Amino acid sequence: MIFWEKDIETLQRSGIHKLQVEKLNQTITIAQNSLYYDKLFKQKGIKPGTIKNIEEITKLPFTTKQDLRDHFPYGFLTVDRRDVVRLHSSSGTTGNPTVIFHTASDLKNWANLVARSLFTAGIRDTDVFQNICGYGLFTGGLGFQYGIERLGCLSIPAGAGNSLRQIKLMQDYGTTAAHAIPSYLNRLYDVFKELNLDPKRDTQLHTFVIGAEPHTEEQRRRIEEMFGVKAYNSFGLSEMNGPGVAFECTFQNGLHIWEDAFIVEIVDPETLEPVPHGEVGELVMTTLDRIAMPLIRYRTRDLTRFLPGDCPCGRTHYRLDRITGRTDDMFIVKGCNIFPMQIEGVLMKIPEAGSNYLITIENINDNDELIIQVEVKREWFSGDLAKLDNLTRLMAHKVRDEVLVKPIIKLVEPGSLPQSEGKAVRVIDKRKIL
Ligand code: ADP
Ligand code: ZN
Repeated sequence: MIFWEKDIETLQRSGIHKLQVEKLNQTITIAQNSLYYDKLFKQKGIKPGTIKNIEEITKLPFTTKQDLRDHFPYGFLTVDRRDVVRLHSSSGTTGNPTVIFHTASDLKNWANLVARSLFTAGIRDTDVFQNICGYGLFTGGLGFQYGIERLGCLSIPAGAGNSLRQIKLMQDYGTTAAHAIPSYLNRLYDVFKELNLDPKRDTQLHTFVIGAEPHTEEQRRRIEEMFGVKAYNSFGLSEMNGPGVAFECTFQNGLHIWEDAFIVEIVDPETLEPVPHGEVGELVMTTLDRIAMPLIRYRTRDLTRFLPGDCPCGRTHYRLDRITGRTDDMFIVKGCNIFPMQIEGVLMKIPEAGSNYLITIENINDNDELIIQVEVKREWFSGDLAKLDNLTRLMAHKVRDEVLVKPIIKLVEPGSLPQSEGKAVRVIDKRKIL
């Protein structure tokens, strides 16, 4: 199947805005069937048809994760429960999970968006697509599954973990494309090596779709090199369905965010005012196609910016820069604000550094210390960590230049840091553990 919805994907800005205003008013009409929005809209005097042009979206109130939790589980539901066919819930990385409900038409629209996204990244119905990711409440499993099938690929619903089996599936069925969390792919590569296999030589892989957790450009390039593939960034969150929200095209220059399905704003997380176009802020999103549970001006807490310029692929929907993290990923040490991805960016540029690392912040003798454990890359490891003093000093120096705090670097053996089943845990702040 061809999933290039040219008319929609190349719509000019005025056309995008017209479509969005129309769909936003429809969404307000649907949303007022929920207990939550009904009450809120009455309080604020918001009615369908209130919005005349896209800038007026700022008249609408924000919705936060806390609002979802406070009205758990059915406060946002707009339809009779017999019309709901599935629920998904977020992985609860930052607290209690939140739940999202879908009608059959919601699921259909979502699958179309995922199919469109995969097509954008060059995947075709001739591909054999292995989905290496947990099936269940996590949206990466079923979310991709339905999109892969809609596009018409041969899908392999492999699930997460069990690297030996993943490799066997790849070899048995000639997998050409796969989706996985980036931190897992480093482990998978190690298993290839342990088996004396080289993914470049011993598989037919040509494309990876990687996402669900923050990662740097350097991390992506490493994955591409290890596996001999192109790796495309995939962004989504359960509150906006899951995968299929924003995706890189084959030019790999930012993530096209589907503006016929979502209104996208970027605001200052403190003042909540829109930031000037191109500046970093918090991503705020409004669903335009959802029936069971529309969300209006949802504060994602993800930090990013719109990228300037046109994309050579011809798609006109705005492109987002790589998500640098969530507002709550930031930690403060010695008065400096630090994001884990700043540290990853520095480490991944050092060839001897492995791809797995763990940041710990600890109060030692009344001093906050930034301790970074870094695995040494297998190819460089001689078996003696004591010989690597120069490398330790180099890393400490480079990290300090970036984050302005001198870290304590502890090099560790390849494969020795803990690996989580799902998204990687990059930071442990012991100051918060009583
Ligand atoms: P949870 O919020 O519990 O982690 P989700 O599975 O809904 O549950 O995760 C969505 C979040 O994952 C996003 O809000 C974002 O922080 C992160 N994320 C998803 N895809 C990417 C990506 N490509 N790059 C960076 N972060 C991502
Ligand atoms: Zn493009």
